[in-house]
Formats: sequence, C-alpha cells, structure tokens
Amino acid sequence: MSRFWSARVHTLTPYVPGEQPKRRDLVKLNTNECPYGPSPLALAAIRDATDDSLRLYPDPTSTRLREALARHHRVTPDQVFVGNGSDEVLAHIFQGLLQQDAPLLFPDITYSFYPVYCGLYGIGYETVALDEDLRVRIEDYRRPCGAIILANPNAPTGIALELEQIERLLEEHPDQPVVIDEAYVDFGGQSAVTLIARHPNLLVVQTLSKSRALAGLRVGSAIGAVALIEALVRVKDSFNSYPLDRLAEAGATAAIDDEDWFEETRARIMQSRDRLSDGLRRQGFEVLPSSANFLFARHPHQSGAGLHASLRARGVLVRHFTVSRIVDYLRISIGTDAECEALLTALAGILDDNRD
Ligand SMILES: *Cc1c(COP(=O)(O)O)cnc(C)c1O
Repeated sequence: MSRFWSARVHTLTPYVPGEQPKRRDLVKLNTNECPYGPSPLALAAIRDATDDSLRLYPDPTSTRLREALARHHRVTPDQVFVGNGSDEVLAHIFQGLLQQDAPLLFPDITYSFYPVYCGLYGIGYETVALDEDLRVRIEDYRRPCGAIILANPNAPTGIALELEQIERLLEEHPDQPVVIDEAYVDFGGQSAVTLIARHPNLLVVQTLSKSRALAGLRVGSAIGAVALIEALVRVKDSFNSYPLDRLAEAGATAAIDDEDWFEETRARIMQSRDRLSDGLRRQGFEVLPSSANFLFARHPHQSGAGLHASLRARGVLVRHFTVSRIVDYLRISIGTDAECEALLTALAGILDDNRD
C-alpha cells in the first residue's frame, strides 16, 4: 500500500496464475500447457525472424497472422483481431465491449480472470450459478443484462456446450455482445466461429497457448463482425500499437499454417485424456466429462486440498481452487502418457496412505 497509488489500484484483486516452479523435476500438470513442443515449422520461423530486422518495429496490424487466421477460420482478415495472449485480447474486450449500463453475466464457476477485469475497468457484473452437475444452463441467462461472456468448453470444469445452445443464447440476446472464450475448443468442442456470419453480436476468442503449444509466445485472437473488431482496434491503438513482436507474429503464423502438427497433437492429447479419465475412475474418482486438455475430478473420500498438497509432496503439481463449490476438485492438465502415469502412481500411493 502506498499513498502514491491511484484509487482504483487499492481496490484491485489481481488474478493469481498457476505456479511456474523453478524446479525442473516436477510433473507439471497445473497450467494446461501442451506437454509437447510447438510445431517445428513455428520454431524455424521464429529462428528465421531472429535477425537484424529486430531493430525495426513489427507490423502494428499483424497482417500476415490475421490473414493466416482468416484462412483457417474461413473469415476475412478484417474479422480478426490479435493480441499479446488471449488475456490481453479479453482485457480489450472487457474495456471496449462489455462495459454496458446493465450488468455483465458469466457463470459463478468459470475463468477467474473475468471478475478481475471487471474490477480493473469498473464493470458491474452478476454471476449465474452452474447447475448441480456444474453445467451452464442457457435458460438461466434470460434476464436483463448488458453483455454475456462464457468460456466454452468452460474452465475449470472442461464441460462444453453444444453449438445449438450457443446459437439459442445469441438469438435470445440480439442486442447484447456475447463473447465465447474458446481457449480449449480444439480438444473436442464445437467452435462458434461458424455462427459469426449470422450473429453480429458474437465475438469468439481463441489462443495459441493451449492447442498450439505456444503459451510462451503470448498470442491470442478474437473473431467476429467487423464492427466489433473495430472497437478492439480502437482500444488497442489507445494502449499499445505493437502488442505482437516480430518473433511472435512469425511463429504464430507458421503455427496456424501447420495443420498436420495441429491435428496430430490434439488427437494425441484427447487420447491421453480419455485414458487418464479411465485411470482416475478406476481409483474411485468422479471425473467430469471433459472437452478440454484437462480433467476436473474429485474423490468421494478425500479433500481436494489434501490431495493437492500430498501430490505436491510427491512432485506432482495440479491446480486446486479454494472456491467452496469446487473445493474438493482437482484440475489436472493432460501431460504425456508418462506424466499421466506418474500422477496415477502418486495418487495410488496417497490413497493407500490415507486408508490406514
Ligand atoms: C488459458 C486461458 C486463457 C488465456 O490464454 P492466453 O492466451 O495464454 O492469455 C483465456 N481463457 C481461458 C478460459 C483460459 O483457460
């Protein structure tokens, strides 16, 4: 605390990211990173971009990357916005589109950055409770609001909504911006990008951090009607003209163009997820049906905090949230098969210890 702080800073409750440990020997299943390296073509493009041209500013409009994303999603480049991670894209969306007279709606259990942005930008919001199976019920959003944001698949549950439900939400709120955060959509969800042509109120947010294995490069995107994208460009150009550096744009463009790497890697992760899910169920865990690169699971006779701490003592990091509705759940990122095995072995040991 300091008397030099702006008044707003005193009120902030910042987001707390998952631990990035210094120790390399931990099995790291806590931040939903990809267990495999990025596309070799992306790494080569980054190396190729590492030359004297770094003395020059990058393209402020990241046109090559927006063109690659437009090709991938079958939209036009002016329907694509890019930023320094989807967290930055989300921040611009909160400031540029979600600050309305009526409150913003989002689920009580979802990406915990949403209320943080509301605090930063002074946006009023209401949370809508997930049902008893921790699912989003579109009917519950039929209430006065200024805008809606949903993560689909939701985090940290991993549960996905069907596209028909998203479309119903859009139809029921034609006068409000509706943002769908698709950070995990490539692991089994259906993207709402196909609905953009028919719904000028829809904005879809994606990231290269999870399914493209580029969390360290910091690249995210938003796709929607030109008028929505224009709002984001205005905010961006009032904040930072160059959110993507030369290496990020080169690597991200090559990563988007490498369809073979993408298809192979996400298939591998989905396979490991289904195997890990079976393994956890055999140990007595309840595992929510996941369309993401993580599982959300609890054991009927163990506390989430206890399991989290015991796993850490055995060198396995998973994510635990101290929110009462989900306090006994663990969020487990899908690792390599060897890492998933290490988790199951550690859990078997812990369950065994706790039986005595
Ligand atoms: C990981 C994640 C993001 C942020 O991704 P970055 O592009 O790395 O900033 C956004 N939304 C959700 C739901 C996420 O899980």
